[in-house]
Amino acid sequence: MIFKWIILLAVVFLVFWLFKPFQRRQKHSADTAARAAENMVRCAYCGVHHPESESITGNGHNFCCAEHSRLYSQSRSRRE
Ligand SMILES: [Zn+2]
Repeated sequence: MIFKWIILLAVVFLVFWLFKPFQRRQKHSADTAARAAENMVRCAYCGVHHPESESITGNGHNFCCAEHSRLYSQSRSRRE
């Protein structure tokens, strides 16, 4: 009789254990879907991808910060 309860408890635990990551994944995919709606651009200097709204545009390239925009134009002018 007690064996039946242990199995029942194990089944309940298993259901919760299987369902928990699924819930988390659903929330995570909703977050990424909201973020994916925004266009991602690559920093021409360091290669980091970031939202277009946070990017700094210069010389026809996108940069993650003003510092990289400056460093990129410096390295370009040094090469030319
Ligand atoms: Zn960068």
